[in-house]
Amino acid sequence: MIRQLIFVLLTFFAVQMNAQMATNIVDVNECPNKTISLSIHVVLDTAGIASATPVMIQNSITTLNNSFKAMCVQFKICRYDTVYESIYNVKTGLNYVKEITTKYNVPNTINVYYSASVTPLWGSLDGGYGVTVSANDVATMSDTVLRDFMLINYNDISAITHEMGHYFGLYDTFDTQFGNELASGTNCATTGDLMCDTEADPNDASDPQCHINNKNLKDGNGEYYTPPICNHMSRYQTGCAKSFTPEQFNRMLLMFKTKRNYLW
Ligand SMILES: [Zn+2]
Repeated sequence: MIRQLIFVLLTFFAVQMNAQMATNIVDVNECPNKTISLSIHVVLDTAGIASATPVMIQNSITTLNNSFKAMCVQFKICRYDTVYESIYNVKTGLNYVKEITTKYNVPNTINVYYSASVTPLWGSLDGGYGVTVSANDVATMSDTVLRDFMLINYNDISAITHEMGHYFGLYDTFDTQFGNELASGTNCATTGDLMCDTEADPNDASDPQCHINNKNLKDGNGEYYTPPICNHMSRYQTGCAKSFTPEQFNRMLLMFKTKRNYLW
């Protein structure tokens, strides 16, 4: 009986160890000490105005750098140009993205386009403020021009930190493409954003400021959500200082090393 109990306990610990190893793919302390080059392209609006100024953009990059300090990755503006063709503010579709990136992209750098467009160049804007190519998007990643496209709306240039999360392979905390994460977190590694240190997030879009509705929302097991409202990959506007979690840094480091290792 005791022997059986010991066996069960050992099996339990072995499974736990495996689970921990699986989540710690890359050690956060493994510091790549890399400064990545950004190429900024400001698209003038139809009135010939850029409502995001160089100072505003630099400030948003400083904030971005503070958020990535723990990962030992920093970003530096190495090119700053103006796109005078305001047509790129109003046109939508992949063809226009291909056109603008072919004309303006600097290879092996992250090309950040700032535009006034409410209808994006490509797909649906992430929360209305940005769009980029995820390191998880195998098809687009094979296109050496498109893979480094990022678009930020003038109206909220701080969205660059969230978009950079996507660029390095993070999912939104409220993503459901892999299934709904339970509030208990028991299925956290295979559902939601695949991260176990970001709580399940119902992202009630009707209440982004106060998330009071979310507090009253229950999951499929009847348990209340406690969403990660101060995480960069959530969409709450609470005013709290947002951050990434260790697992998110680990995933971004892994993507940096395996999918984005061509960056200058
Ligand atoms: Zn997003």
